[in-house]
Amino acid sequence: MRPSVRCLKELDRIYLRHKSTSFIGLGRMGHEMAFNLFSKQFARDAEAHFVVCDAIPDSARAFSENFLGHFPGAKLAIATTPEEAILASQTVVTMLPSSPQVKSVYSEGLLPTLRGLPRKQASSTLCIDSTTLDVSVAKQVAADVISTGAEMVDAPVSGGVTGAKAGTLSFLVGGADASFKRSESILSLMGQRIIHCGDSGSGLGAKICNNLVLGVQQIVIGEAMLLGQRLGLDPAVLAGVINSSTGGCWASSVNNPVPSALPGKSPPCERDYEGGFATALMLKDMGLARDIAKQTKSPIPLGEAAENIYARVVQEQPALSRKDFSSVYRFLETSQQKE
Ligand code: NAD
Repeated sequence: MRPSVRCLKELDRIYLRHKSTSFIGLGRMGHEMAFNLFSKQFARDAEAHFVVCDAIPDSARAFSENFLGHFPGAKLAIATTPEEAILASQTVVTMLPSSPQVKSVYSEGLLPTLRGLPRKQASSTLCIDSTTLDVSVAKQVAADVISTGAEMVDAPVSGGVTGAKAGTLSFLVGGADASFKRSESILSLMGQRIIHCGDSGSGLGAKICNNLVLGVQQIVIGEAMLLGQRLGLDPAVLAGVINSSTGGCWASSVNNPVPSALPGKSPPCERDYEGGFATALMLKDMGLARDIAKQTKSPIPLGEAAENIYARVVQEQPALSRKDFSSVYRFLETSQQKE
């Protein structure tokens, strides 16, 4: 019996879905991550299909123009909704601001569409969420996705916009062994270290603990750099001492908040704190740490103090809210001057 035209079209759609990857959320991180992912997939297979989607259509358009400018022959489409993206692709990566956006994209868009797909197609789908969000929301979303037969991992990242651009991110992955193995081949196109942290939600747990450390350290480096300069120390000399001594940390050696403290390097402070990890996002992460600390009855007195400081930065100097969180140094500088 010859297959019908409808049947051939359906096979064609399934075949294209198999060769297609969607990326939802093309912000500071997502743009760079999707660029690396798609360009490496394109280098392996010029017939691969790519789909991008963002709540801000200009962000998807800007990505499309940038990517097609570099790879004119690539097959890249813009989806206007997450539903369109998951219908077109077997692999979907999401990189969204936080819990409300993940709930909305999955619960209102991806999940109903997955539930409407034939079980075989749904079960061929892999969702990778790289957003930093609430652990319990992530676990619930993953359980809902898995109930359709599809696979899902949480895979938040460490390494910032610089790591996203260079393709050197660390991915902290939570999910079943088989899903981790499947996601590894995708994640390794965007990062260098892919760490399986445990079951669903454990990648996020690790990420939130890491950012608790980072959020506190960035403030204390701001304090030390300010104090040292007021003692008459040159910022490059002081940063050199800290970075080669026991106080050395990423917040000082890579993300030092004082211009000219890191000669030859280009931290966000050299660009008026543009282009890094927004203060508002760090405040969100400190809140996520506070929530899980409460749930697990874990004391985080320094985390609470740091959260209060970031909350004051956002409230008292709203212009710093979208700037890199190392701009907390600017806040400290002005608060000290007032006294
Ligand atoms: P961002 O705000 O620049 O980007 C988020 C993107 O998601 C935006 O383009 C936005 O329009 C889009 N979006 C929002 N709601 C949407 C929806 N409903 N549907 C489709 N698109 C939607 O944020 P970012 O800096 O790229 O960070 C993304 C995530 O990565 C956050 O969870 C953040 O905590 C985490 N993270 C960021 C950094 C960093 O250095 N920026 C580092 C590590 C982790």
